[in-house]
Amino acid sequence: MAVIKSLLIRLEVETAAKKRICHRNRKTHSVIAGETCLVTIDDMGGKKNYCKICYAEMLNKAQNDLDGIKTRLGTTGTSQS
Ligand SMILES: [Zn+2]
Repeated sequence: MAVIKSLLIRLEVETAAKKRICHRNRKTHSVIAGETCLVTIDDMGGKKNYCKICYAEMLNKAQNDLDGIKTRLGTTGTSQS
């Protein structure tokens, strides 16, 4: 069986070893040492960090977007083997 291509960009969950700046709001958001952050990795290997406020919103939006697509395609999206 062919490998299923992921539609999502590369995501990693990392624990900050030192303070990181949140890419979505560089002025007021940050990830302090020891906190979890969501890291997106582009095709060139460039990484962007997002704090817990932002990644919660981003994941919810992604979930909603996927649910919308599933509804339009008429699939419930439950995994079938
Ligand atoms: Zn943020």
